Amino acid sequence: MKKYKTLFFDVDDTLLDFGAAEKLALQLLFEEQNILHTPEIEEEYKRINQGLWRRFEEGEMSRDEVVNTRFSSLLHVYGKEVDGKLLEKKYRSFLEEGHQLVDGAFDLIRELHSQYDLYIVTNGVSRTQDKRLRSSGLFPFFKDIFVSEDTGFQKPMKEFFDYVFERIPQFNVNDALIIGDSLSADIKGGQLAGMDTCWFNPKMKQNDSDSSPNFQIHKLEELKQIVSVKDRIGA
Ligand SMILES: [Mg+2]
Repeated sequence: MKKYKTLFFDVDDTLLDFGAAEKLALQLLFEEQNILHTPEIEEEYKRINQGLWRRFEEGEMSRDEVVNTRFSSLLHVYGKEVDGKLLEKKYRSFLEEGHQLVDGAFDLIRELHSQYDLYIVTNGVSRTQDKRLRSSGLFPFFKDIFVSEDTGFQKPMKEFFDYVFERIPQFNVNDALIIGDSLSADIKGGQLAGMDTCWFNPKMKQNDSDSSPNFQIHKLEELKQIVSVKDRIGA
């Protein structure tokens, strides 16, 4: 008998390599805008972007405010005034093409989907996440995809998970597990929602947050041992 029945997966940097998609999209955007693409400008972009998304997670900013100001804020630093909304639109069209898989993601999901109910829970833009999941080949293995843009709430908010749970037939939080790379969105969110959590930590970062996951894995394939009681007790 298995303990877990329902598995919730984050997308970015859990199943799909967001870093690779982002790098390519930034490169194409900067080229198109005749901006010299240097490691410094990329670092500065990440710093600004992460700061904005943190404010989003804390409920201080809307998603639209985040995405429509990140490029104007970035280029302002370099003395350029640009239409942030327009650049976002172009960036988004490049980003949609990025569907590089995290190591082991496809095999894991293909293997698990016959034994567990798999769902996606992601903060992001519905169209982008939908396109990337489809082109990666992962889409058909999931029973449903929940994107923050459609729910009106985002991880780690309890309301996001309330929305999700209400839409799953015969859902029981006691046999659910969330798997994700973000302590502040996935692990904290899972804990607020009352379910078990598994932190995917491939870079072996220190946990300096106040969230403590039930499990931690460094490779996706390690999840198989966690979800199977038989394997876990070594029987
Ligand atoms: Mg993530």
